[in-house]
Amino acid sequence: MKEDILKVVKDKDPNEREFHQAVGEVVESIMPVLDRFPEYRKAKILERLVEPDRVILFRVPWMDDRGEVHVNRGFRVEMNNAIGPYKGGLRFHPSVNLGILKFLAFEQVFKNALTTLPMGGGKGGSDFDPKGKSDTEVMRFCQSFMCELFRHIGPNTDVPAGDIGVGAREIGYLFGMYKKLTNEFTGVLTGKNLNWGGSLIRPEATGYGSVYFASEMLGTQNKTLEGKICLVSGSGNVAQFTVEKLLDFNALPVTLSDSSGYIFDEEGIDREKLSFVKRLKNVKRGRIKEYADAYPKAVYTPVDPALDYNPLWNHKAHCAFPSATQNEINEKDARNLVQNGVEVVCEGANMPTVPEGVDLFLDSHILYGPGKAANAGGVSVSGLEMTQNSMRLSWAREEVDQRLQMIMRSIHRTCLDAAVAYGAPGNYVRGANIAGFVKVVEAMMDQGLV
Ligand code: NDP
Repeated sequence: MKEDILKVVKDKDPNEREFHQAVGEVVESIMPVLDRFPEYRKAKILERLVEPDRVILFRVPWMDDRGEVHVNRGFRVEMNNAIGPYKGGLRFHPSVNLGILKFLAFEQVFKNALTTLPMGGGKGGSDFDPKGKSDTEVMRFCQSFMCELFRHIGPNTDVPAGDIGVGAREIGYLFGMYKKLTNEFTGVLTGKNLNWGGSLIRPEATGYGSVYFASEMLGTQNKTLEGKICLVSGSGNVAQFTVEKLLDFNALPVTLSDSSGYIFDEEGIDREKLSFVKRLKNVKRGRIKEYADAYPKAVYTPVDPALDYNPLWNHKAHCAFPSATQNEINEKDARNLVQNGVEVVCEGANMPTVPEGVDLFLDSHILYGPGKAANAGGVSVSGLEMTQNSMRLSWAREEVDQRLQMIMRSIHRTCLDAAVAYGAPGNYVRGANIAGFVKVVEAMMDQGLV
């Protein structure tokens, strides 16, 4: 049955490797549910879930500062809205293609279901690379992108947010154009700046949530994060706030990276160094290498394409927080982590571990929190931003943070309970996939064949 559905997906779209990977993982997990509820098979639920409700693909022409015209491709994948409006980020990165966005949108459906908030799943973006572009070039690109996207989204239809390459700056430009085109000020995007409809804690939410999830996992063994050496990859939104929350828990984060290389700081990345990274990445838009120039005791290692593993994951540590991108932990990296005695792997990024690596983590019985559950804090606070926007009010920082903690605790509990109910205690992958799947599928069954 797993093979049947994968064959359908692969035959239809043979080049969408990441999408096949995401579907394969979910389908394997939810087989016991299909065995228990044959009516889902009869209703062809899986076949319906892997086909997006709608895919929008469009041209994005824009002009650079020298007057040269460029044409990028824009996408929005509206995957499933059985439990609420489509919700999921926009990614601007040269690697973006339909297969990557379908994998992200598919994951988002189950992740959003886990949050307990009424949000369906979607994802979008462009192969535009904001790196090295001026603010005015980014603005012109975002305006052109929104000139097409605006007709497909809305506060009750589809509510995009940020992802790789899309932060507060891009959300601002996108929102400005949406507002101009529709003559409406609504909560159509989340991740907005605070003074015009954003939520406190939204920038922090994914990283903070991932650390809360790791803390919950450790709690099941009566352990805490205190004193734990932590490897963190990436140096963008998720990585920065993962480090910040790890410091609140008195853990010792020692690495950060970007696509050019990584830094290892044996003494730990403290609050002052983290402020440096935030300025470097969010204001100067510089490279992580500059960390080692500022703090010479840290060691910078550039990416070596000849290596078949990432040395960042080969340091001895208690915890690993992959927070950069998909498939950044290959099988060898996973083996290195396990051999070095890692106790926790908690995924801030989406699908950062290859399937063979996931199997290794599960076989080794470490605490492994898959992205679908562990990084759901971001979309949860986006859901809270939507609520605040529609009520036209704004909650205090403590209130949002408390709600985030409650949601992460509840996701953790939901995963554990679902795993037990289907005979796989402690397996958060099974738990997350089953719990998310059941919620969406029950809604689809209630709503008939649409
Ligand atoms: P950012 O753009 O803020 O940061 C991404 C970081 O990852 C950068 O340091 C970037 O380096 C690095 N990176 C990106 N692509 C690669 C690559 N191919 N190889 C090595 N490094 C890479 O993105 P976010 O922090 O928002 O997102 C990180 C991950 O978290 C993604 O998987 C995203 O889908 C996931 N996520 C994000 C959420 C959010 O709220 N932002 C919510 C849930 C999940 P460089 O600058 O060199 O490209």
